Amino acid sequence: MSSAIVPVYARADVAFERGEGCWLTATTGERYLDFGAGIAVNALGHAHPRLVAALTEQAGKLWHTSNLFQIPDGERLARRLADATFADLVFFTNSGAEANEAAIKMARRRHAIDGHPEKYRILTFEGAFHGRTLATIAAGGQAKYIEGFGPKVDGFDQIPATDIAAVEAAIGPGTGAILIEPIQGEGGVRTIPASFLRGLRALCDARGLLLIYDEVQTGVGRTGKLFAYEHSGAAPDIMTIAKGIGGGFPMGACLATADAARGLTVGVHGSTFGGNPLAMAVGNAVLDEVLADGFVARVARLGSFARQRLAELKDRHPDVIAEVRGEGLMIGLKLKLSPQDFAAAARRRHLLTIPAGDNVVRIVPPLIITEEEFAEGVRRLDEACADLEASPAPVKKGAYA
Ligand code: PLP
Repeated sequence: MSSAIVPVYARADVAFERGEGCWLTATTGERYLDFGAGIAVNALGHAHPRLVAALTEQAGKLWHTSNLFQIPDGERLARRLADATFADLVFFTNSGAEANEAAIKMARRRHAIDGHPEKYRILTFEGAFHGRTLATIAAGGQAKYIEGFGPKVDGFDQIPATDIAAVEAAIGPGTGAILIEPIQGEGGVRTIPASFLRGLRALCDARGLLLIYDEVQTGVGRTGKLFAYEHSGAAPDIMTIAKGIGGGFPMGACLATADAARGLTVGVHGSTFGGNPLAMAVGNAVLDEVLADGFVARVARLGSFARQRLAELKDRHPDVIAEVRGEGLMIGLKLKLSPQDFAAAARRRHLLTIPAGDNVVRIVPPLIITEEEFAEGVRRLDEACADLEASPAPVKKGAYA
């Protein structure tokens, strides 16, 4: 029978019915090693006992009350996020795109209440991805996501990354903020140099702009720091997170300094579900693990181990892999063939990976993965590369950017 779901996803022909740690079991009973974590979401793997306990315990008490009332676990999660970062305040959302919408509105409103409503424009960068709402596709600037959806939301000016002179030249009288992913995820695991982020910070300070980091994919330990901006030492004014903070439960957040958030007063913004008790219980449980002594440092160590093993893989398969890049457990393999074909070959060896732009496949396993599990995944990648070398899949022109 044909599917009744709107066909916007190119789904692989496999369905999973249970997971444990870094392993997923398909409906056929076959086991897969998960190097994708649901697109960098399942930070603590599948069915983590602490998350299962937090969610089921909360589910037995209270699901939803709305933001008309106090939500103590939300207060606690916001306080913990603020204490662990540059931020003073947190707005909870249900997704990454919504967190970015909040950030965009926050920046515009801050300038508006200061008497500069014309400073609604935001500089963004080529190769960016910020979500699929009307504003965030305009911020991402990719034609394939924008075309056919009516007039592009005004207020986003896109420039090449890593050229600070180009950024300075692009700042106009209407510019109010700069929005950037410290490592571009969907764009192909492209690390933005720390010196460039520090340059943006200095420019924002000098020109009265707000610096917004989209850490939806890089945040919550993924890169071997709690947040990727810590690698550069250049803190933002506003930062968005999602994915890892819910460990698989849909949630996101927009973090900000009190000064940046000044415009968001009662009634100005909101969400029915944002910060609901189920999400808050899970978010706090995720933080219990990620903030525990040594967790993030272990991700950094494991990331070095992983990149070393993958560099050896590249040396063994120079016709398949061109480059290994990334930070912590956010790793990209730049390929000499299509990432979709590579991911399919890996899947045939029961290993899950995630295609991205720039001809890259992402290796973004659960952060709890062990060295042994990672080595097992590399063994499977070795087999997948050998399969591809033996019968190379045709490179589909235009199928990937
Ligand atoms: N921002 C970044 C950096 C992302 O990687 C993503 C999703 O992949 C988003 C925003 C959008 O998040 P969501 O799909 O939860 O709306």
